[in-house]
Amino acid sequence: MDFHPRESKRGGAWMTSFSDQKMVDGKRVPPVISIVCNFTKAVGDAPALLTFDEVSTYFHEFGHALHGLLSNTRYNSQAGTNVPTDFVELPSMIMENWPNQPEVLKMFAKHHKTGEVIPTALIDKIQNAAKYGQGFAKGEYLASSILDLDYHSMTKNWEGDPVQFEKEKMTKAGLISSIIPRHSSTYFNHIFAGGYSSGYYSYVWSEVLDSDAFSVFKEKGIFDKETASSFRKNILEKGGTAEAMTLYKRFRGGEPDIKPLLKRTGLQ
Ligand SMILES: [Zn+2]
Repeated sequence: MDFHPRESKRGGAWMTSFSDQKMVDGKRVPPVISIVCNFTKAVGDAPALLTFDEVSTYFHEFGHALHGLLSNTRYNSQAGTNVPTDFVELPSMIMENWPNQPEVLKMFAKHHKTGEVIPTALIDKIQNAAKYGQGFAKGEYLASSILDLDYHSMTKNWEGDPVQFEKEKMTKAGLISSIIPRHSSTYFNHIFAGGYSSGYYSYVWSEVLDSDAFSVFKEKGIFDKETASSFRKNILEKGGTAEAMTLYKRFRGGEPDIKPLLKRTGLQ
C-alpha cells in the first residue's frame, strides 16, 4: 500500500499488479499487488485523517486488489483484472457500498480525539448527499456514452461537423437542453485516444452490476459468508476465464436488474 503523495508521484489512485497470479508446475503462485493512492498526509504528530471520498477510494482500489489477490486461474493472461472493461469495475465498485453502511461506519469512523462513534445524523447526511444531482450526473454521463457509441458505430469514412453531429445525435437520444454531454466531441479525448473507444459506458454498466450484486448482500446480510464466498468463487477467483455475463449469472442466478441502481441513486 502506497497511500500518500510525494514529489514525483503521479496523482490519482489505482491498483497495480507487479506480478499476476499464475500456475507453475501445477502450483498456484500468488500475485504481487499494490494499491496506490494520494491521500491527505498527516501533519506533525496528528494522524492522517481521510475524507469520506478518500475512504471510498480506498475501498474501491481494495476491491481491484481483491480481484488480483484472490485470482485462481490456470492462465496468467486471464488472471485477476484481465477482464473486459465493462466488467473490471464490478469488484471495485461493489466495495464502495460497504463504507456507506451504518454498521460498517460505526466500526471504524470514530472521532480521532474523543473516540466518539460517527453519529447517525451524519451517516444520514452522507447517504442523502449521494443522491444529490444524480439525474443530471447520470444524464450527462449517458449522453457522452451514447455519443461515443454513435461515433464508433460509423461504417464509412466521414467528413463533417462534429458539433452538428453531436447536436443531431443528442436530439435523437432525447437529451433535454439543460443537460449537455459530460464531454463534448471536441474534447472527448477518452474515446479517440484514451482507450475508451466505444467503452465510455463501462462505468455505468459496472454500476448496474455492482448495485444489483450488492442488493444480494443487502438481502442476505452485508457480512453473509455464503454470499461473500459465492462472489469470491464465481467472480473474484475467475478473472477472465469465462464471459463476464456467465460469471455474473453464476453468482446472481440471473441477469442484473437496473432497479437497485435507480433506487440507490434516488431516481426511483
Ligand atoms: Zn476502478
